[in-house]
Amino acid sequence: MKAAVLKSQQEAPTQQLGIEEVPRPQLVPGHLLLRVLACGVCRTDLHIVERDLPPLRQHLIPGHQIVGEVVAGESKESPIGSRVGVSWMGGVDGDCWYCRHQMENLCDQPVFTGYTVDGGYAEYALARTDFTFPLPGALDDIHVAPLLCAGIIGFRSLRVAGVQPGERVGLFGFGSSASLTIAVLQSWKCEVFVATRGVFHRKLAESLGATWVGSENEKPPVELDRAITFAPSGDVVVSALACLRKGGVVAINAIHLDRMPPFNYDKLLWGERVIRSVANMTRADARDFLKIARDIGIRPQVTVFPLAQANDALHAIKLESINGAAVIVP
Ligand SMILES: [Zn+2]
Ligand SMILES: [Zn+2]
Repeated sequence: MKAAVLKSQQEAPTQQLGIEEVPRPQLVPGHLLLRVLACGVCRTDLHIVERDLPPLRQHLIPGHQIVGEVVAGESKESPIGSRVGVSWMGGVDGDCWYCRHQMENLCDQPVFTGYTVDGGYAEYALARTDFTFPLPGALDDIHVAPLLCAGIIGFRSLRVAGVQPGERVGLFGFGSSASLTIAVLQSWKCEVFVATRGVFHRKLAESLGATWVGSENEKPPVELDRAITFAPSGDVVVSALACLRKGGVVAINAIHLDRMPPFNYDKLLWGERVIRSVANMTRADARDFLKIARDIGIRPQVTVFPLAQANDALHAIKLESINGAAVIVP
């Protein structure tokens, strides 16, 4: 099969995916063999390719927003020919302290799709059956793909931030994940304040009905109850913190930050303000979000790239040169 492969011995600055012919994965018990229909491109993929996250394998097929058709290893929930989604969480051990306390997102022995195991930048992929999700029929393959990480982890960020209906919520950065989150917030009757760089992203936020839209240096006109940051930048976290009311929460939706700058504790964190990171996702997050996405009819904006142009898709994410999400189609 054709796949986009990352080789860890390559030098970092020239790090590129090679489009190669590789063996099709073999079915093993407890797994589904999927024909990949589409695979979303996430900023985490870029962090993996650029080694902001340490390489774990010599050869790796990235991609963790997989829409696949079951071709072998069917289960009761997902028969042959049905369509399932695979996300970043590809498996857990099930018996560490975190797994036993409903925090499987923090598992000590996690499997990450497209990082610890091969992912979906390929014609076929293997996924643990109990970490696949039947997909709502309303959305086609390319539009459902970005829901599988950008959507689910965006949704988890709202949970981690403790968002309540009707609250004032700030979104700092407005890429794929934020643009999916805004629809959920609107369904909860929240007021949404978007601060982001790039005229492109500000226009998108306006068109999606944000209450207020400003540049990354502007402050919303009111104090916020919650804020979620989507940029891999510590400066953005501090900007978000500066917009909170007492007792407010900043949730950081980023697997990697450039650095965390020093900031004024007395002014910014005192008053029981909270900074929390958002790590991975649980299967419950995935199922709950996919249900909400179906109920409120979330339809992301996407730009499609053929598998042979996987590097261009990553480049577009890096430059933020497309609105919404990039999706690879084999
Ligand atoms: Zn565990
Ligand atoms: Zn992701």
